[in-house]
Amino acid sequence: MKVLLTPEVITLVDRELAAQPPERLMHVLGTVRPDGSLIVIEGLIDWEAEASSAHVRPSPEAENRIQRLERQQRLSYLGVIHSHPPSVPEPSHQDFVALQDLQRLNPHMLALLVGVVVQRNHSGSDPEPLHALKLDHGRLSLHGLTPANPHPRPVRVREAGDRPDFWQAAEQRVPDGSLRGLHGAHAVVIGAGSVGSNIAEHLVRAGVPRLTLVDDEVVEPVNLTRTVYDYRDVGRKKTSALRDHLVAINPDLQVTLVDDRLGASTASTFRHVLSDASIAIGAADDNLAMGVLDVLLHECGLPGVFAAVYKGAAGGDIVTVVPGVTACWRCTVGPRQQGTLLPALDYGTGRLEGEIALGVDIATIAVLAARTVLGVFCTMADSDRFLERPLVERRTFVQVGLTPGFYGDTGLFADTPAQHAWQSTWVSSLGDPDCPECGATAVKQVEVAEPKHWARAKLGLARGRSQLRNLLTRKKRRSRGVSEPGAQGHAVSIR
Ligand SMILES: [Zn+2]
Ligand SMILES: [Zn+2]
Repeated sequence: MKVLLTPEVITLVDRELAAQPPERLMHVLGTVRPDGSLIVIEGLIDWEAEASSAHVRPSPEAENRIQRLERQQRLSYLGVIHSHPPSVPEPSHQDFVALQDLQRLNPHMLALLVGVVVQRNHSGSDPEPLHALKLDHGRLSLHGLTPANPHPRPVRVREAGDRPDFWQAAEQRVPDGSLRGLHGAHAVVIGAGSVGSNIAEHLVRAGVPRLTLVDDEVVEPVNLTRTVYDYRDVGRKKTSALRDHLVAINPDLQVTLVDDRLGASTASTFRHVLSDASIAIGAADDNLAMGVLDVLLHECGLPGVFAAVYKGAAGGDIVTVVPGVTACWRCTVGPRQQGTLLPALDYGTGRLEGEIALGVDIATIAVLAARTVLGVFCTMADSDRFLERPLVERRTFVQVGLTPGFYGDTGLFADTPAQHAWQSTWVSSLGDPDCPECGATAVKQVEVAEPKHWARAKLGLARGRSQLRNLLTRKKRRSRGVSEPGAQGHAVSIR
């Protein structure tokens, strides 16, 4: 865990705690960033706090101010910093007990802190440990705990630089709910070409803290017309060039590179790559790879978003797959592949030919796909309603027309007034009862339309990925013929 203190908070801690007699207490508020780091933005001295060996309770007056800051500045309560006599520079056992008590009272918090300030020790000039910060009049030692690590541990504490960092910028412009939905998010992007590189960039700018980039190609001059690469990248591996581009946007971004191609022979490697992901994005110009990804998603119980552009970017489509809830990718795009929209295959490799198209048109599909990915994250964290209804209704096949008359051959929109290009249709994908991936969740259209099924499925989506994982295990057990009482009435089931 990493903790930053603003210069104003450091001055306050120094003036109000380090420069004063010991046994004073300050409540601290700030925010938790999507990458799990904390920034302390406000400190409130509490003269009347009730501090016993087992708990710390803010005084009624401090409680009011804390609530006001939480409401008006969207800050979160992060714990306490208090001062000890110089002989006790670290938290006591009671401090840790009180911290655990704070967590019991604030179970929604992703992290809580306890800090100890002592006056300057003049005896030595030893460097401070990572969990300590030198103050003008003393030192601050910080410990923290998270729901995953409920035993307090030393945390790295540093001063927030004068230049605002990426997360501070995100907090000012990215909606609060979205940032919450992205906490700890890890997106695996398969394909760092025109669609994948644009999706990756938008995910990073929106606050996704962790990415894995998968591609085995190098940047070529033709890529410059439609990707995020520039001339300096030509000849470099796409993965490392993309990482450098993204880290230049957010230096705290965690990036893993996989210079390999997803296919039947590399499936086991990718099973490992996907094992701690929160979502996978299929953006490779390779339908074979997308088919393997579809199977792996269902094995791992991982949601996925697939994006494709076709017919010289006359249109594109975005497919969202949530195993156990929606149809699989293959059942969704199967009809398209048999129809006229299948792009030309590069003979011998099975990969799609690069088409002549404008970068802006490709980027349009990529942006919509990135929005869909963010929608999946936020739906699972129950912090955004954008994608919830289509997911629950299984309208997971989004077709986007980028040219006028794209839907002309089907007659859709042909005679609709006030229509031109950039239409989208959200088509129900019901799955195939015989499909090994999505057969167990295949539904009849009439069932989807029943509101009571929406309500049940909505509840399930909000419970997030672990719930979806459980459902998947359940599905596998059922398919092996083990009956499970009550499975029909499970909250996520929309059968
Ligand atoms: Zn103490
Ligand atoms: Zn299927």
